[in-house]
Amino acid sequence: MQNTTPAYAGGTPVRTEKIYYAHQMIDQADIDAVAAVMRSDFLTAGPAIEETEKKLCELTGAKYAVLCANGTAALHIACLAAGIKEGDEVITTPITFAASANCALYCGATPVFADIDPETYQLDPVKVQEKITEKTKAIIPVDFGGQAADIDAFLKLAKEHGLLIIEDASHSIGTKYHGRAVGSLSDMTVFSFHPVKTICGGEGGAVLTDDEDLCKKLRLYRTHGITRDPAMMRHEPHGPWYYEQVALSTNYRITDMQAALIGSQLNKLPAFAARRKEICARYDEEFGKLPAFRVQKETEGSDTVRHLYILRIDPEHFTLSRRELYDALLAEGIVPNVHYLPVYRMPYYEDLGYKVGLCPEAERLYDEMLTLPLYAGMTDQDIEDVICAVTRIGEYYGR
Ligand SMILES: *Cc1c(COP(=O)(O)O)cnc(C)c1O
Repeated sequence: MQNTTPAYAGGTPVRTEKIYYAHQMIDQADIDAVAAVMRSDFLTAGPAIEETEKKLCELTGAKYAVLCANGTAALHIACLAAGIKEGDEVITTPITFAASANCALYCGATPVFADIDPETYQLDPVKVQEKITEKTKAIIPVDFGGQAADIDAFLKLAKEHGLLIIEDASHSIGTKYHGRAVGSLSDMTVFSFHPVKTICGGEGGAVLTDDEDLCKKLRLYRTHGITRDPAMMRHEPHGPWYYEQVALSTNYRITDMQAALIGSQLNKLPAFAARRKEICARYDEEFGKLPAFRVQKETEGSDTVRHLYILRIDPEHFTLSRRELYDALLAEGIVPNVHYLPVYRMPYYEDLGYKVGLCPEAERLYDEMLTLPLYAGMTDQDIEDVICAVTRIGEYYGR
Protein backbone atom coordinates (compact mmCIF):
# COMPACT_ATOMS: atom_id res chain seq x y z
CA MET A 1 0.00 0.00 0.00
CA GLN A 2 1.75 3.10 -1.29
CA ASN A 3 0.26 6.08 0.47
CA THR A 4 -2.23 5.25 3.17
CA THR A 5 -4.14 8.53 3.38
CA PRO A 6 -7.61 7.93 1.87
CA ALA A 7 -8.48 9.97 -1.23
CA TYR A 8 -11.53 11.17 0.77
CA ALA A 9 -9.02 12.82 3.18
CA GLY A 10 -6.84 14.28 0.42
CA GLY A 11 -4.65 11.27 -0.51
CA THR A 12 -4.05 9.83 -3.98
CA PRO A 13 -6.86 7.52 -5.19
CA VAL A 14 -6.08 3.80 -5.28
CA ARG A 15 -7.12 3.72 -8.95
CA THR A 16 -8.47 6.03 -11.64
CA GLU A 17 -10.45 3.49 -13.69
CA LYS A 18 -13.69 2.76 -11.82
CA ILE A 19 -14.58 -0.74 -10.70
CA TYR A 20 -18.26 -1.67 -10.24
CA TYR A 21 -19.95 -4.17 -7.95
CA ALA A 22 -20.81 -6.69 -10.67
CA HIS A 23 -20.04 -7.50 -14.27
CA GLN A 24 -20.87 -10.42 -16.58
CA MET A 25 -18.11 -12.58 -18.07
CA ILE A 26 -18.81 -13.52 -21.71
CA ASP A 27 -16.38 -15.53 -23.86
CA GLN A 28 -16.24 -16.75 -27.46
CA ALA A 29 -18.02 -20.02 -26.57
CA ASP A 30 -20.99 -17.98 -25.28
CA ILE A 31 -21.08 -15.88 -28.45
CA ASP A 32 -20.86 -18.99 -30.65
CA ALA A 33 -23.71 -20.65 -28.73
CA VAL A 34 -25.98 -17.64 -29.27
CA ALA A 35 -24.96 -17.24 -32.91
CA ALA A 36 -25.75 -20.91 -33.62
CA VAL A 37 -29.33 -20.38 -32.43
CA MET A 38 -29.66 -17.24 -34.56
CA ARG A 39 -28.72 -19.30 -37.65
CA SER A 40 -31.24 -22.03 -36.73
CA ASP A 41 -34.99 -22.36 -37.33
CA PHE A 42 -36.13 -21.70 -33.77
CA LEU A 43 -35.50 -18.40 -32.02
CA THR A 44 -37.95 -19.17 -29.24
CA ALA A 45 -39.43 -22.37 -27.77
CA GLY A 46 -36.67 -24.35 -29.52
CA PRO A 47 -34.26 -27.10 -28.47
CA ALA A 48 -31.84 -24.89 -26.51
CA ILE A 49 -34.48 -24.43 -23.80
CA GLU A 50 -34.85 -28.15 -23.10
CA GLU A 51 -31.09 -28.67 -23.25
CA THR A 52 -30.45 -25.96 -20.70
CA GLU A 53 -33.31 -27.19 -18.49
CA LYS A 54 -31.68 -30.63 -18.54
CA LYS A 55 -28.34 -29.09 -17.63
CA LEU A 56 -29.89 -27.29 -14.65
CA CYS A 57 -31.35 -30.60 -13.46
CA GLU A 58 -27.99 -32.38 -13.80
CA LEU A 59 -26.23 -29.58 -11.99
CA THR A 60 -28.60 -29.42 -9.02
CA GLY A 61 -30.15 -32.88 -8.82
CA ALA A 62 -33.64 -31.42 -9.27
CA LYS A 63 -36.08 -33.53 -11.33
CA TYR A 64 -37.58 -30.68 -13.34
CA ALA A 65 -36.46 -27.22 -14.46
CA VAL A 66 -38.67 -24.65 -16.20
CA LEU A 67 -36.79 -21.80 -17.89
CA CYS A 68 -38.69 -18.54 -18.27
CA ALA A 69 -38.31 -14.85 -19.10
CA ASN A 70 -36.56 -13.68 -15.91
CA GLY A 71 -36.30 -14.33 -12.19
CA THR A 72 -39.34 -12.18 -11.47
CA ALA A 73 -41.47 -14.22 -13.88
CA ALA A 74 -40.07 -17.37 -12.23
CA LEU A 75 -41.23 -16.14 -8.81
CA HIS A 76 -44.65 -15.27 -10.24
CA ILE A 77 -45.26 -18.65 -11.91
CA ALA A 78 -43.98 -20.39 -8.76
CA CYS A 79 -46.61 -18.54 -6.70
CA LEU A 80 -49.30 -19.33 -9.31
CA ALA A 81 -48.31 -23.01 -9.33
CA ALA A 82 -48.47 -22.98 -5.52
CA GLY A 83 -52.06 -21.79 -5.82
CA ILE A 84 -51.41 -18.54 -3.98
CA LYS A 85 -54.41 -16.24 -4.29
CA GLU A 86 -56.35 -13.39 -2.75
CA GLY A 87 -56.62 -13.65 1.04
CA ASP A 88 -53.42 -15.71 1.37
CA GLU A 89 -50.27 -14.62 3.16
CA VAL A 90 -46.69 -15.26 2.08
CA ILE A 91 -43.77 -14.70 4.47
CA THR A 92 -40.45 -13.37 3.20
CA THR A 93 -37.44 -11.26 4.18
CA PRO A 94 -37.29 -7.47 3.86
CA ILE A 95 -33.61 -7.66 2.84
CA THR A 96 -34.17 -8.66 -0.78
CA PHE A 97 -35.00 -7.38 -4.20
CA ALA A 98 -38.66 -6.30 -4.23
CA ALA A 99 -39.63 -9.12 -6.63
CA SER A 100 -39.44 -11.66 -3.76
CA ALA A 101 -42.47 -9.92 -2.20
CA ASN A 102 -44.11 -8.48 -5.34
CA CYS A 103 -44.83 -12.03 -6.55
CA ALA A 104 -47.32 -12.42 -3.69
CA LEU A 105 -48.99 -9.11 -4.63
CA TYR A 106 -49.27 -10.21 -8.29
CA CYS A 107 -51.44 -13.10 -7.03
CA GLY A 108 -53.58 -10.85 -4.82
CA ALA A 109 -51.94 -12.23 -1.67
CA THR A 110 -50.30 -10.28 1.17
CA PRO A 111 -46.53 -10.25 1.71
CA VAL A 112 -45.64 -10.57 5.40
CA PHE A 113 -42.13 -9.55 6.41
CA ALA A 114 -40.20 -11.34 9.15
CA ASP A 115 -36.91 -10.01 10.49
CA ILE A 116 -33.41 -11.26 9.69
CA ASP A 117 -30.65 -12.83 11.76
CA PRO A 118 -28.28 -9.95 12.66
CA GLU A 119 -25.15 -11.94 11.76
CA THR A 120 -26.01 -14.06 8.71
CA TYR A 121 -28.51 -11.44 7.40
CA GLN A 122 -30.81 -14.33 6.44
CA LEU A 123 -34.52 -14.59 7.16
CA ASP A 124 -34.78 -15.79 10.79
CA PRO A 125 -36.91 -18.97 11.18
CA VAL A 126 -37.89 -17.98 14.74
CA LYS A 127 -39.25 -14.65 13.48
CA VAL A 128 -41.00 -16.45 10.63
CA GLN A 129 -42.71 -18.84 13.03
CA GLU A 130 -44.15 -15.87 14.95
CA LYS A 131 -45.76 -14.60 11.72
CA ILE A 132 -47.47 -17.82 10.64
CA THR A 133 -51.28 -17.59 10.65
CA GLU A 134 -54.19 -19.62 9.23
CA LYS A 135 -53.78 -17.59 6.04
CA THR A 136 -50.09 -18.38 5.47
CA LYS A 137 -49.58 -20.45 2.31
CA ALA A 138 -45.86 -20.21 1.60
CA ILE A 139 -42.51 -19.02 2.88
CA ILE A 140 -40.12 -17.42 0.40
CA PRO A 141 -36.65 -17.56 1.97
CA VAL A 142 -33.98 -15.72 -0.02
CA ASP A 143 -30.42 -17.06 -0.17
CA PHE A 144 -29.17 -13.57 0.54
CA GLY A 145 -25.79 -12.77 -0.99
CA GLY A 146 -25.41 -16.37 -2.17
CA GLN A 147 -25.29 -18.26 1.11
CA ALA A 148 -28.11 -20.69 1.67
CA ALA A 149 -30.88 -19.52 3.98
CA ASP A 150 -31.66 -21.78 6.95
CA ILE A 151 -33.61 -24.10 4.65
CA ASP A 152 -33.85 -27.08 7.05
CA ALA A 153 -35.61 -24.89 9.62
CA PHE A 154 -38.04 -23.59 6.98
CA LEU A 155 -38.77 -27.10 5.70
CA LYS A 156 -39.57 -28.14 9.27
CA LEU A 157 -41.96 -25.20 9.69
CA ALA A 158 -43.52 -25.99 6.32
CA LYS A 159 -44.18 -29.57 7.35
CA GLU A 160 -45.72 -28.57 10.68
CA HIS A 161 -48.01 -25.95 9.14
CA GLY A 162 -48.69 -27.39 5.67
CA LEU A 163 -46.84 -24.65 3.77
CA LEU A 164 -44.79 -24.59 0.59
CA ILE A 165 -41.19 -23.36 0.47
CA ILE A 166 -40.37 -21.27 -2.59
CA GLU A 167 -36.65 -20.59 -2.28
CA ASP A 168 -35.52 -17.39 -4.00
CA ALA A 169 -32.08 -18.57 -5.09
CA SER A 170 -31.45 -15.66 -7.45
CA HIS A 171 -28.12 -15.14 -5.65
CA SER A 172 -27.05 -18.68 -4.94
CA ILE A 173 -26.60 -20.87 -8.00
CA GLY A 174 -23.63 -23.17 -7.27
CA THR A 175 -24.04 -23.02 -3.48
CA LYS A 176 -24.36 -26.25 -1.51
CA TYR A 177 -26.22 -26.71 1.76
CA HIS A 178 -25.24 -29.67 3.95
CA GLY A 179 -23.69 -31.18 0.84
CA ARG A 180 -26.75 -30.79 -1.41
CA ALA A 181 -26.97 -28.33 -4.29
CA VAL A 182 -29.28 -25.31 -4.07
CA GLY A 183 -32.07 -26.18 -6.50
CA SER A 184 -32.78 -29.54 -4.88
CA LEU A 185 -33.68 -28.37 -1.37
CA SER A 186 -37.10 -26.71 -1.47
CA ASP A 187 -40.52 -27.40 -3.03
CA MET A 188 -39.59 -24.89 -5.72
CA THR A 189 -36.34 -22.99 -6.27
CA VAL A 190 -36.06 -19.83 -8.35
CA PHE A 191 -32.93 -18.74 -10.24
CA SER A 192 -32.25 -15.43 -12.02
CA PHE A 193 -29.85 -15.05 -14.94
CA HIS A 194 -29.68 -11.25 -14.93
CA PRO A 195 -26.16 -10.14 -15.96
CA VAL A 196 -25.16 -9.09 -12.43
CA LYS A 197 -25.81 -12.63 -11.17
CA THR A 198 -23.29 -15.49 -11.25
CA ILE A 199 -24.71 -16.96 -14.50
CA CYS A 200 -25.75 -14.51 -17.22
CA GLY A 201 -28.51 -14.89 -19.81
CA GLY A 202 -29.04 -11.19 -20.58
CA GLU A 203 -32.43 -11.83 -19.01
CA GLY A 204 -33.68 -15.22 -17.85
CA GLY A 205 -35.00 -17.20 -14.93
CA ALA A 206 -35.91 -20.73 -13.92
CA VAL A 207 -38.00 -22.66 -11.42
CA LEU A 208 -36.73 -26.06 -10.27
CA THR A 209 -38.86 -28.70 -8.57
CA ASP A 210 -39.09 -32.44 -7.94
CA ASP A 211 -42.89 -32.38 -8.11
CA GLU A 212 -44.39 -33.42 -11.46
CA ASP A 213 -47.70 -31.70 -10.77
CA LEU A 214 -46.01 -28.39 -9.89
CA CYS A 215 -43.85 -28.72 -13.01
CA LYS A 216 -46.95 -29.11 -15.23
CA LYS A 217 -48.44 -25.98 -13.69
CA LEU A 218 -45.19 -24.03 -14.08
CA ARG A 219 -45.11 -24.89 -17.80
CA LEU A 220 -48.78 -23.90 -18.10
CA TYR A 221 -48.24 -20.51 -16.44
CA ARG A 222 -45.10 -19.87 -18.50
CA THR A 223 -47.30 -19.65 -21.63
CA HIS A 224 -50.59 -17.81 -21.02
CA GLY A 225 -52.20 -20.72 -19.13
CA ILE A 226 -52.38 -22.56 -22.48
CA THR A 227 -52.13 -26.36 -22.71
CA ARG A 228 -51.82 -28.95 -25.48
CA ASP A 229 -52.21 -31.83 -23.00
CA PRO A 230 -55.61 -33.55 -23.66
CA ALA A 231 -55.72 -34.58 -19.99
CA MET A 232 -55.99 -30.91 -19.02
CA MET A 233 -58.59 -29.94 -21.66
CA ARG A 234 -62.34 -29.43 -21.25
CA HIS A 235 -63.34 -30.18 -24.87
CA GLU A 236 -62.30 -32.95 -27.25
CA PRO A 237 -59.19 -31.92 -29.21
CA HIS A 238 -60.45 -30.91 -32.67
CA GLY A 239 -57.14 -31.67 -34.38
CA PRO A 240 -53.38 -31.54 -34.02
CA TRP A 241 -53.50 -27.72 -34.02
CA TYR A 242 -55.77 -27.66 -31.02
CA TYR A 243 -54.92 -26.07 -27.68
CA GLU A 244 -56.93 -24.62 -24.81
CA GLN A 245 -56.40 -21.79 -22.38
CA VAL A 246 -57.34 -23.25 -19.01
CA ALA A 247 -55.90 -20.60 -16.65
CA LEU A 248 -54.89 -16.95 -16.79
CA SER A 249 -51.24 -16.06 -17.14
CA THR A 250 -49.15 -14.15 -19.66
CA ASN A 251 -46.19 -14.67 -21.98
CA TYR A 252 -43.27 -15.51 -19.70
CA ARG A 253 -41.27 -17.49 -22.29
CA ILE A 254 -37.52 -17.14 -22.71
CA THR A 255 -35.88 -17.00 -26.14
CA ASP A 256 -33.66 -19.80 -27.43
CA MET A 257 -30.77 -17.29 -27.71
CA GLN A 258 -30.93 -16.63 -23.98
CA ALA A 259 -31.36 -20.32 -23.15
CA ALA A 260 -28.24 -21.10 -25.24
CA LEU A 261 -26.27 -18.35 -23.47
CA ILE A 262 -27.32 -19.69 -20.05
CA GLY A 263 -26.41 -23.23 -21.13
CA SER A 264 -22.97 -22.10 -22.25
CA GLN A 265 -22.43 -20.08 -19.07
CA LEU A 266 -23.38 -23.08 -16.92
CA ASN A 267 -20.37 -24.96 -18.37
CA LYS A 268 -18.22 -22.37 -16.59
CA LEU A 269 -20.03 -22.41 -13.26
CA PRO A 270 -17.27 -24.42 -11.51
CA ALA A 271 -14.64 -21.89 -12.65
CA PHE A 272 -16.84 -18.88 -11.80
CA ALA A 273 -17.61 -20.37 -8.39
CA ALA A 274 -13.94 -21.07 -7.62
CA ARG A 275 -12.95 -17.52 -8.51
CA ARG A 276 -15.74 -15.98 -6.43
CA LYS A 277 -14.72 -18.13 -3.47
CA GLU A 278 -11.09 -17.06 -3.90
CA ILE A 279 -12.02 -13.38 -3.91
CA CYS A 280 -14.27 -13.73 -0.85
CA ALA A 281 -11.56 -15.61 1.04
CA ARG A 282 -9.11 -12.74 0.37
CA TYR A 283 -11.68 -10.14 1.45
CA ASP A 284 -12.64 -12.09 4.60
CA GLU A 285 -8.99 -12.51 5.53
CA GLU A 286 -8.21 -8.80 5.22
CA PHE A 287 -11.47 -7.25 6.42
CA GLY A 288 -11.71 -9.65 9.35
CA LYS A 289 -8.63 -7.89 10.75
CA LEU A 290 -10.27 -4.45 10.72
CA PRO A 291 -12.30 -3.53 13.83
CA ALA A 292 -14.12 -0.89 11.73
CA PHE A 293 -16.03 -3.53 9.74
CA ARG A 294 -17.97 -6.77 10.07
CA VAL A 295 -18.29 -9.51 7.51
CA GLN A 296 -21.35 -11.68 6.87
CA LYS A 297 -21.34 -14.82 8.99
CA GLU A 298 -21.95 -18.10 7.16
CA THR A 299 -25.21 -19.96 7.70
CA GLU A 300 -24.51 -23.33 9.27
CA GLY A 301 -24.03 -25.93 6.53
CA SER A 302 -23.68 -23.48 3.63
CA ASP A 303 -20.82 -24.02 1.16
CA THR A 304 -21.31 -20.64 -0.42
CA VAL A 305 -20.78 -19.24 -3.90
CA ARG A 306 -21.32 -15.60 -3.09
CA HIS A 307 -23.11 -13.23 -5.47
CA LEU A 308 -22.81 -10.18 -3.19
CA TYR A 309 -19.99 -9.32 -0.81
CA ILE A 310 -21.46 -7.27 2.04
CA LEU A 311 -19.24 -5.02 4.13
CA ARG A 312 -20.89 -3.79 7.32
CA ILE A 313 -19.77 -0.88 9.45
CA ASP A 314 -19.27 -1.45 13.18
CA PRO A 315 -20.39 1.99 14.43
CA GLU A 316 -18.49 1.55 17.72
CA HIS A 317 -15.23 1.30 15.82
CA PHE A 318 -15.78 3.47 12.76
CA THR A 319 -16.47 7.20 12.59
CA LEU A 320 -18.02 7.55 9.10
CA SER A 321 -21.65 6.93 8.22
CA ARG A 322 -22.58 4.46 5.48
CA ARG A 323 -23.11 7.38 3.08
CA GLU A 324 -19.66 8.78 3.89
CA LEU A 325 -18.09 5.35 3.45
CA TYR A 326 -19.78 5.14 0.06
CA ASP A 327 -18.27 8.48 -0.96
CA ALA A 328 -14.86 7.52 0.46
CA LEU A 329 -14.80 4.31 -1.63
CA LEU A 330 -16.01 6.19 -4.70
CA ALA A 331 -13.12 8.65 -4.24
CA GLU A 332 -10.75 5.65 -4.47
CA GLY A 333 -12.30 4.51 -7.79
CA ILE A 334 -14.42 1.76 -6.17
CA VAL A 335 -18.15 2.02 -6.92
CA PRO A 336 -20.08 0.17 -4.20
CA ASN A 337 -23.81 -0.50 -4.13
CA VAL A 338 -26.44 -1.13 -1.44
CA HIS A 339 -28.50 -4.34 -1.18
CA TYR A 340 -31.14 -3.59 0.02
CA LEU A 341 -33.48 -0.94 1.38
CA PRO A 342 -35.98 -3.13 3.34
CA VAL A 343 -38.75 -3.83 0.84
CA TYR A 344 -41.50 -2.48 3.12
CA ARG A 345 -39.73 0.91 3.21
CA MET A 346 -40.34 1.32 -0.53
CA PRO A 347 -42.96 4.05 -1.01
CA TYR A 348 -45.28 1.62 -2.80
CA TYR A 349 -45.25 -0.64 0.27
CA GLU A 350 -45.52 2.28 2.69
CA ASP A 351 -48.66 3.32 0.83
CA LEU A 352 -50.03 -0.20 1.40
CA GLY A 353 -49.68 0.46 5.14
CA TYR A 354 -46.35 -1.15 6.10
CA LYS A 355 -44.65 0.87 8.87
CA VAL A 356 -41.08 1.74 9.74
CA GLY A 357 -39.89 -0.31 12.75
CA LEU A 358 -41.42 -3.56 11.45
CA CYS A 359 -38.07 -5.39 11.23
CA PRO A 360 -35.46 -3.56 13.36
CA GLU A 361 -32.52 -5.84 12.48
CA ALA A 362 -33.14 -5.34 8.77
CA GLU A 363 -33.36 -1.57 9.20
CA ARG A 364 -30.13 -1.49 11.22
CA LEU A 365 -28.35 -3.59 8.59
CA TYR A 366 -29.53 -1.25 5.83
CA ASP A 367 -27.98 1.73 7.64
CA GLU A 368 -24.60 0.01 7.99
CA MET A 369 -24.09 -2.01 4.80
CA LEU A 370 -22.39 -1.66 1.42
CA THR A 371 -21.85 -4.14 -1.41
CA LEU A 372 -18.25 -4.36 -2.65
CA PRO A 373 -17.16 -5.43 -6.15
CA LEU A 374 -17.37 -9.19 -6.64
CA TYR A 375 -17.36 -11.00 -9.97
CA ALA A 376 -15.40 -13.81 -11.62
CA GLY A 377 -13.73 -11.44 -14.11
CA MET A 378 -11.97 -9.34 -11.44
CA THR A 379 -8.19 -9.30 -11.88
CA ASP A 380 -5.83 -9.87 -8.96
CA GLN A 381 -5.02 -6.15 -9.16
CA ASP A 382 -8.74 -5.27 -8.92
CA ILE A 383 -9.02 -7.38 -5.77
CA GLU A 384 -5.95 -5.83 -4.17
CA ASP A 385 -7.22 -2.34 -5.06
CA VAL A 386 -10.51 -3.00 -3.25
CA ILE A 387 -8.62 -4.35 -0.25
CA CYS A 388 -6.25 -1.38 -0.23
CA ALA A 389 -9.12 1.12 -0.39
CA VAL A 390 -11.22 -0.54 2.32
CA THR A 391 -8.20 -1.02 4.57
CA ARG A 392 -6.93 2.54 4.37
CA ILE A 393 -10.43 3.92 4.99
CA GLY A 394 -11.07 1.45 7.83
CA GLU A 395 -7.81 2.33 9.55
CA TYR A 396 -7.91 6.08 8.97
CA TYR A 397 -11.49 6.52 10.14
CA GLY A 398 -11.43 3.75 12.73
CA ARG A 399 -11.59 4.29 16.47
C1 LIG B 1 -32.33 -10.45 -9.29
C2 LIG B 1 -33.30 -10.88 -8.29
C3 LIG B 1 -34.62 -11.22 -8.61
C4 LIG B 1 -35.26 -10.93 -9.94
O1 LIG B 1 -34.60 -11.46 -10.99
P1 LIG B 1 -34.77 -10.82 -12.46
O2 LIG B 1 -34.17 -11.91 -13.30
O3 LIG B 1 -33.99 -9.56 -12.47
O4 LIG B 1 -36.21 -10.63 -12.70
C5 LIG B 1 -35.44 -11.73 -7.61
N1 LIG B 1 -34.98 -11.88 -6.36
C6 LIG B 1 -33.74 -11.55 -6.01
C7 LIG B 1 -33.29 -11.74 -4.60
C8 LIG B 1 -32.85 -11.02 -6.95
O5 LIG B 1 -31.63 -10.65 -6.59
